[in-house]
Amino acid sequence: MTAPAQSTAAQSTAATGAADPGAASPAIAALAYHDGEFVPLADARVPVTTQALQYGTGVFEGIRAYAGPDGELRIFRAHDHYLRFLRSCRTLRIDVDRSAEELCELTAELLRRLGTGSDMYIRPLGYKRALMPGTPPGVQLQRVSDALSVNAFRMGSYTKSSGIRCAISSWRRPQAAVLPVRAKITGGYVNNALAVDEAQAGGYDDAILLNSRGHVAEASTSNVFAVVKGQLVTPPATADLLEGITRETVVTLAADLFDTRTSFEDLDRDDLLNADEVFLTGTGAEIVPVNEIAGRSIGSGVPGPLTRSLVSAYQDVVRGQNPSYHHWLQAVGSTTA
Ligand code: PMP
Repeated sequence: MTAPAQSTAAQSTAATGAADPGAASPAIAALAYHDGEFVPLADARVPVTTQALQYGTGVFEGIRAYAGPDGELRIFRAHDHYLRFLRSCRTLRIDVDRSAEELCELTAELLRRLGTGSDMYIRPLGYKRALMPGTPPGVQLQRVSDALSVNAFRMGSYTKSSGIRCAISSWRRPQAAVLPVRAKITGGYVNNALAVDEAQAGGYDDAILLNSRGHVAEASTSNVFAVVKGQLVTPPATADLLEGITRETVVTLAADLFDTRTSFEDLDRDDLLNADEVFLTGTGAEIVPVNEIAGRSIGSGVPGPLTRSLVSAYQDVVRGQNPSYHHWLQAVGSTTA
C-alpha cells in the first residue's frame, strides 16, 4: 500500500474491509448531503421510527476518492458504484430519483464543499423512511417513503500490506434465495458483522465465509482470489457473493498488465489452503494479501509476487498514474469552500 494510513477508527476496528459496513462511525467530515440539501453532519439525523432502522431496509455503497501526486482528488469508478447502488435500490423499491450521473456529480459537489485534498471514503445510503399516511404498521417495502443521504470522511489505506490472517467463519453466507446477495443491503450486513466478530474474537484479522453449498463465497467485506499455477481463480457470481468492483478491476489489470487470466470457478476451503497466493479485494480493503487461513500458511506465508504486483499496479491506477485507466477516475475539481 503506498497511501499513507491516516488516523481513523477504521484502522483499529479491522485489518481489512471489515471496517467497511460500519464506516460511518469514524466520520470526521462536517457536512453531508441529507434529504435534498447539504447540511452540517450533526444535523443529518433520522427519527427512531425510521423503517430502515427497524427492518434493515436500506442500501449503501462504499466509494473511495484518491489524491493523486498532483494534489487532485479523483473518485474511483464512481459511475460503476452508483449503477450498483441503483440496482440495489431497485431491489428494495427505493426511489432516490436521481441517475448515476447525477449521483456522481452530487458526490463531487460534496467533496468540493468538504474542501479536502486527502483520500476520502464516500458512503451513499438509500433507505426506507416513513409509512405513507394511512398505511398500517408492518414490514413492507411499498407505501413507505424513500430517502437519500451521502456522507464522506477522510480515510487512507488501512490494510496491512504485510498480509493478514483469516478464519473460515462458522457463519455461512446467505444464499440468493434467502437474501438478494448481489445488492448491498444494510440489514444483510448482520451476517458479515457476526463473521467479523467471531474472527476477531479468535484472534484473526478477518473472516472468509463459505456459502450454503460449502464453497468459498467471499470475505467479510471483500472478494477472494487464489493464485494457482500462475493463474487467478475467484468464485463465480453464483457462489452467492457481492460482485465487487475491485474484483472486476483486478481481473482487468491482471489480464492487461500481467497477461494473467482469471477463471471463475468454485473454490473449496482446501483450494485456498493449497494455493500459492491468496488475496482479498474491496473498495475499503483495496488489495490485501492473506498469509494464513485457519492456522495454515498460504504459500510461503508472505505476500506472493503476483499479489505484490497487483497491489502496486492498483495504486498507480487509482492515483491517476496509469493513463490507460483514466476513464475510471472522476476529477472532483477545485473546492468551492
Ligand atoms: N463483498 C462484500 C460483502 C462487500 O461488502 C464488499 C465491499 N463493497 C465487497 C465484496 C467488495 O466490493 P467492491 O470491490 O465493489 O468494494
